[in-house]
Amino acid sequence: MRRVFVVGAGQMGSGIAQVAAQAGREVTVRDVQQSFLDRGKKTIETSLGRLVKRGSLTEEQAGEALSRIRFSLDIEPAREADLCIEAILERYEEKAALWRDISAVAPERAVLASNTSSLPITRLATNVAHPERFIGMHFMNPVPVMQLVEVITGLATAEETTQAVEAEAKEYGKITVRAKDFPGFVSNRVLMPLINEAVFTLYEGVASAPDIDTVARLGMNHPMGPLQLADFIGLDTCLYILEVLYEGFGDPKYRPCPLLRQYVQAGYYGRKSGRGFYTYA
Ligand code: NAD
Repeated sequence: MRRVFVVGAGQMGSGIAQVAAQAGREVTVRDVQQSFLDRGKKTIETSLGRLVKRGSLTEEQAGEALSRIRFSLDIEPAREADLCIEAILERYEEKAALWRDISAVAPERAVLASNTSSLPITRLATNVAHPERFIGMHFMNPVPVMQLVEVITGLATAEETTQAVEAEAKEYGKITVRAKDFPGFVSNRVLMPLINEAVFTLYEGVASAPDIDTVARLGMNHPMGPLQLADFIGLDTCLYILEVLYEGFGDPKYRPCPLLRQYVQAGYYGRKSGRGFYTYA
């Protein structure tokens, strides 16, 4: 695939644009405000600069990658795209409207991929003319660092589309895993109950937050405890994904812990708000 159109210049979209450009793709990143595009560009420059400092990239390669990325407020570049990757905010109605717009301009051959963490790919695909070319391409955060891409096949996704996305992700230096389109896919279905159970353990007074995390780090060799990880992801995001699992399966085992709900109500979102299970300066 030669031309990649990325929508959303936030945390994920900027990382996706970077790895695609490093793999030689002509990339256009679209957002709704110039200031968001500027911030996305800055994130990419900083990230490339870090790779140069570490010796994984030469100055020249970093400059070339950056020069392959265009920034746009317009949807028109989708007209030329071989692959469109959507990484806008996690709201169904916003994503559905955007996909209707993209579907109206993108060429018939284009593969259409959403980076959603939790919305059903099968449902999102109903907004495009060719649902067989629609797929989930779930990159992990931070994209330039994390190796995994979870590839989610919707009910209508064609095998050809899946293989095309797997090959593309490989070119970005990623390793793919296929998952079927059920709530949480694999990653969040496994991770969120772990985090939720850690919150219940805290809620019931079994152990303190640092002790719960120490058990996971030293007893299970996790690089980071589940409560610290929840703070990094954002407690609001964790609650939202747990609700998706709870409602999607209708199974009480996914019931979000009342303490998690209370923290979110208090505005304790984790690292981004300065307070979650830990406090941040
Ligand atoms: P973010 O808030 O950092 O960025 C979203 C960007 O999309 C913003 O810059 C916003 O202005 C832009 N946007 C919103 N509506 C738009 C539209 N109609 N057209 C163009 N741009 C629009 O969010 P993020 O963390 O990068 O997450 C993006 C997506 O990736 C979400 O679906 C999220 O679930 C998924 N995701 C996030 C993570 C993570 O850890 N942050 C990991 C995997 C997947």
